[in-house]
Amino acid sequence: MIKLVRGFKDILPADTALWQHVEALARELLEDFGFYELRIPLLEQTELFSRSIGAGTDIVEKEMYTFTDRGGASLTLRPEATASVVRAYVQHRLYAKDPVWKLYTIGPMFRRERPQKGRYRQFYQINAEVFGVDDPRTDAELILLLMRFMGRLELPDITLQINSLGCPECRPRFKNALESFLTSHSGQLCSDCLRRQDQNPLRLFDCKVPSCKETMQDAPSVLDHLCETCRAHFGSVKESLEGFQVPYQINHGLVRGLDYYTRTTFEVLAESLGAQDAVAGGGRYDGLVKALGGPEQPGVGFAIGLDRLIELLAGRAQVFEKRPHVFIAAIGKRAQSVGFQWLQDLRLQRVRAEIDFENRSLKSQMRRADKLEASYVLIVGDRELDDGIAVLRNMTTKEQEKVPLENIISFVVNRIDTTAVGSR
Ligand code: AMP
Repeated sequence: MIKLVRGFKDILPADTALWQHVEALARELLEDFGFYELRIPLLEQTELFSRSIGAGTDIVEKEMYTFTDRGGASLTLRPEATASVVRAYVQHRLYAKDPVWKLYTIGPMFRRERPQKGRYRQFYQINAEVFGVDDPRTDAELILLLMRFMGRLELPDITLQINSLGCPECRPRFKNALESFLTSHSGQLCSDCLRRQDQNPLRLFDCKVPSCKETMQDAPSVLDHLCETCRAHFGSVKESLEGFQVPYQINHGLVRGLDYYTRTTFEVLAESLGAQDAVAGGGRYDGLVKALGGPEQPGVGFAIGLDRLIELLAGRAQVFEKRPHVFIAAIGKRAQSVGFQWLQDLRLQRVRAEIDFENRSLKSQMRRADKLEASYVLIVGDRELDDGIAVLRNMTTKEQEKVPLENIISFVVNRIDTTAVGSR
């Protein structure tokens, strides 16, 4: 038997209804907030990611699925979406029509991380990006949208953490302070951190090695080094969040694993997920559009990790399953042929209907209806046809009623609209 590639997974029918529900809710909310969907390819030129995410990051150093195309080009399966969305904004000159764009995209990302619970090599994200606005209310609004989404899904025990990474004006001051701290603590750092310490000292906040984590707790805080403008920007983000009663924690070590962030960064954590507890993350990236060849336009966005979100909702998967509304139990040849016609007519009315073609006994057809968890069974035999009626059985209450054959479809549609569980 040929099996899945390690770190990849199938999303089976028992779970897809929940995925669809979450995605539909996200689309609805994003579109209410004025976002348009953008569909981007899975494959990009490697340089797009090495230039935007940053050469000294885990993603670029160790995790990308990169290969040489037969034509000799170096291509990479996208490890995240922001770089591609920025590329599209720049390449198609979307900014020329209007610099302000709110775009979202839903789909898989690929990172060759060590697989474990909540960490896959192909995982799914919902991404939202806003271009052309540097007002801090946009940052707050994105966070609000994210928290509304989590709220609509009734996720328990989630925490929002925020931070500001400053701008090209104040970041160097912080970097200097951080570098001298790291030099005096180099004895406690792992070999990866020692190597990255000069090139990209911010990355050390992401290191999971216990001695590094402990050391970084005493590291200088970026928030003590912000320039006046960045301090005011961050102050406004916090003020807006408070205005909308969105609780948050400040985490000065929240640098996120990518190089392009400026000012606001944020993450949503769910304690019950264990070690891989980040459900969503994002931030502002004011220099990225320019760095990728576009005009000087700011950007801010987030990514929600769908796999982890679904994991949090796992107990509710059944609620969203689309079970049949009606099972047609047709006994006898004539009834089978009439039932087959009803089946198609009901489906035209968006009723989920099923039938069994094997002409088995009523008892075994009822067993099948039970197995499918149909809300109703429409029973018809040759005798019923002669009498001009069929029997509709409510599988929850076990009540049965006689239904005249004329207008049987609209009768059933009506019953389902008023009583059956599940949406149509
Ligand atoms: P990041 O931009 O790396 O913070 O990713 C945003 C979100 O995507 C995270 O908060 C996770 O929920 C999710 N995510 C990132 N990497 C993985 C992975 N390897 N497996 C599953 N989910 C992931």
